[in-house]
Order: sequence, then C-alpha cells, then structure tokens
Amino acid sequence: MPGLWFSMIRAQLPQNIYHRVLNEARDSPEAEICGLISAHQHTPVRCYSITNAHPRPASAFDMAAGELVCALRHMREQGEQLWAIYHSHPQGPGTPSSRDIAECGYPETLHLVITPHLEPPLHAWRYAGQDTMPVRLEIV
Ligand SMILES: [Zn+2]
Repeated sequence: MPGLWFSMIRAQLPQNIYHRVLNEARDSPEAEICGLISAHQHTPVRCYSITNAHPRPASAFDMAAGELVCALRHMREQGEQLWAIYHSHPQGPGTPSSRDIAECGYPETLHLVITPHLEPPLHAWRYAGQDTMPVRLEIV
C-alpha cells in the first residue's frame, strides 16, 4: 500500500531500553523473545520481558497470558501506559510477518521487531489493518 509509506513517524527509545531488548534477543538465537515497553507521560520507562509461550517459538511468538496480565496490571498501578510490544526475529527480516499483524491483540500500539543479525537491529512499525507503516526509531 504505497500511500501509507508517506506517513513516516518518529519514536524515541532510551538507550537503556534499546540495549536491554537487543541483548535479550541476542541471548536467544533459537527462539523469538517478546515483551512490553511501558511509558510514563509518553516517555518509555520500563521493559517487561514476557515468556514466549508459542509451541514453535523459533518462528512465532505468543506472550504467556498470565505474565501479560501481570505486566499490564503493574503498569496500571505505576501510572504507566503501554508504549510498545517487542519481539525478535532471530533469523528473519525486520518486517512483521502476516501472522504478527493478523494475531496482534494491540494493533494501536507501536511494534518493535528485533533482528540481532541485521543492521540496524531494531525496526519500529505501526499496523494499519493488514498494512504496516515504518516508524523512524531514534535512540536517545
Ligand atoms: Zn514476528
């Protein structure tokens, strides 16, 4: 959908969170990792690693339901908001898969795909129906 690619948006990710999710992905070359990043007053502040409960974690992810509920509750108690969902593609491209988009429960949030084997290793997206829009990620 070429028209959507005009809407290049920006997002700022603090270095400490950037390194944390990248290291987490590097430490898991066999399985996709996943989790949430929360924000406080629109600034990303915290990373919630969540177990990938998918039966084929090498090529898909499914956030463990109990951990997801706990993380969202903790965010609410801390006055934080969901800022992004991240997961890795240990061997794959930096683009979300069609399944990533179709099975996403939070389409309105930012999505980060981490590819430790590629440069740059972090890719940010917004979903719009079945389409994706790239988001320019600035590490600050
Ligand atoms: Zn994916």
